Amino acid sequence: MSDLEAFRSETRAWLEANYPPSLNEPMAEDDAPWGGRNYRPSNPDAKLWLERMGAKGWTAPMWPTQYSGGGLSADENRVLTQELTRIKARPALMSFGVWMLGPVLLEYANEEQKQKFLPPIVRGEIRWCQGYSEPGAGSDLAGLQTRCEDQGDHYLINGQKVWTSYADQADWIFCLVRTDTSKKHEGISFLLFDMKTPGVEARPIKLISGSSPFCETFFDNVKVPKDQLVGKLNGGWDIAKRLLQYERQNISAGGFGGGAGLEIEEAAKQFVGIEAGKLADTDLRTRIAAHKMDAKAFALTVRRAEAESKASRGPSAATSIIKYAAAKLNQDKCELMVEAMGTQGLGWEGEGFDPEGLKATRAWLRSKGNSIEGGTSEVNLNVVAKRVLGLLDHQ
Ligand SMILES: Cc1cc2nc3c(=O)[nH]c(=O)nc-3n(C[C@H](O)[C@H](O)[C@H](O)COP(=O)(O)OP(=O)(O)OC[C@H]3O[C@@H](n4cnc5c(N)ncnc54)[C@H](O)[C@@H]3O)c2cc1C
Repeated sequence: MSDLEAFRSETRAWLEANYPPSLNEPMAEDDAPWGGRNYRPSNPDAKLWLERMGAKGWTAPMWPTQYSGGGLSADENRVLTQELTRIKARPALMSFGVWMLGPVLLEYANEEQKQKFLPPIVRGEIRWCQGYSEPGAGSDLAGLQTRCEDQGDHYLINGQKVWTSYADQADWIFCLVRTDTSKKHEGISFLLFDMKTPGVEARPIKLISGSSPFCETFFDNVKVPKDQLVGKLNGGWDIAKRLLQYERQNISAGGFGGGAGLEIEEAAKQFVGIEAGKLADTDLRTRIAAHKMDAKAFALTVRRAEAESKASRGPSAATSIIKYAAAKLNQDKCELMVEAMGTQGLGWEGEGFDPEGLKATRAWLRSKGNSIEGGTSEVNLNVVAKRVLGLLDHQ
């Protein structure tokens, strides 16, 4: 038996012994496993699952074991993913810490910071939010104005962030601040701080749906210990860009990637019907087939890009290609789904709509943000033009 086959059978046995069977029930809509100090899932076994996966390091399977990660190779990680998919396991943890912050801490943080921050991320004990965008700095992120002043024994932060996802529920923030007003990109630093620090206030932004996934986040004379600066003072822009590459890579690989053709087919069969063994609506059938081919091609491209990034030094500017394509693919999928479901796919609430229909409507509305979050599609095309294709930058 090869090492990898042995790893597969060990993994399978461990999952059989440790995945709580009660989690096979559908997850409640607002029960996503974000972890953190206030994580109280409606099914307590979700917490048990997080504890077990976290203790094994399998919430961050490829991080080094010295920081409580799983220490797996790329091949072992693929086997783990296959085995989790085989038993249709719920994710143990969804985490900005695992997807975005941890990878840059591994690259840029000092040893003390790695020891302090990485293990709690693996165990899902700290929920992080991302303090990047500001009212005057979105696509032009380097225009950010949140001031950070050196007060001798600490930093003092004043300013405002916006669209900070889940800031009201997060424990800590990774935040871009301006430490030098005389320079643009070279005047930015990357800071970590506790959301409970006096002077931090997260105000949820009410959306038309009634839910509030984003916040305006205000900083009023917030004191931050100096050892919470990551990397060099005024050296935050490189870290910020690197984090965006990890963000785009993660969004593309799992967040709203392709490979969802089957659900559309099922919906179409149910709502449109079958004639002579084929979907009754020829035009819809053609577009679903085209989408499925795009999704397959996309999944293969992601695999190739992952292999390339592992062979080199992690993700590159090419993640912008994948992020752009992933956003488009998911928006196409959601459009097709709603179309296939007809009026059933247009409900928000109320009688006459089943849960699947309501899910489709919400997913369709949510997908509108895909081409904005993590950098807009236009901005990603700019990155591709400049950094991947090497077209001249006239600015
Ligand atoms: C679901 C979601 C979650 C988010 N979560 C977070 C979060 O947790 N933390 C955080 O900090 N931010 C978050 N954001 C904010 C997001 O990063 C910004 O919305 C995004 O970067 C765009 O910035 P903006 O909204 O200021 O738009 P703007 O920058 O004002 O852009 C407006 C329009 O102009 C276009 N545009 C701007 N500049 C150019 C250019 N140079 N070339 C071509 N077109 C251009 C844009 O593509 C866009 O269509 C989130 C956004 C969404 C939708």
